[in-house]
Amino acid sequence: MKGAICIGKPPDWWETTSEGARLALALCSICPARTGCADDQEYGVIRAGVAWHNTGVPAGLCGCGYPLPLNKHGDERSACLRCDPPSNVRYAGGRAADVARLVGEGLSYAAVGKRLGISKSMVGKYVRRGRRPQAVSTAVGAS
Ligand code: SF4
Ligand SMILES: [Zn+2]
Repeated sequence: MKGAICIGKPPDWWETTSEGARLALALCSICPARTGCADDQEYGVIRAGVAWHNTGVPAGLCGCGYPLPLNKHGDERSACLRCDPPSNVRYAGGRAADVARLVGEGLSYAAVGKRLGISKSMVGKYVRRGRRPQAVSTAVGAS
């Protein structure tokens, strides 16, 4: 499709459940091929700035900008897993990585704790652990 911004970009960004979905939606919003693209209905992907689930349900967007997931029956939108994660969800990269990422995004320890279902002081412990100095090589090359 002429002028399609998605050409040459990682295709997985246009998958509804992808980490890149928010960026894909933003790119669609400025894409010159958007009008023609909207005619090619496909499910399970983002097309023309609309995220479609596999079942044909339009995902709709959370306030965080990501498509909303489906409920376990696959017929209705569910709560955003990023903004309202179930307490039993485990994240790739482990909890320490989640804490580092969310603190890096500028969230307070309290907000991070609420998001991950842990206490504010536990967030602080993860942060301090992550700041421990690593072993540094002091080898000096020959002059
Ligand atoms: S509007 Fe269509 S062609 Fe343009 S970036 Fe989005 S999916 Fe690709
Ligand atoms: Zn959200």
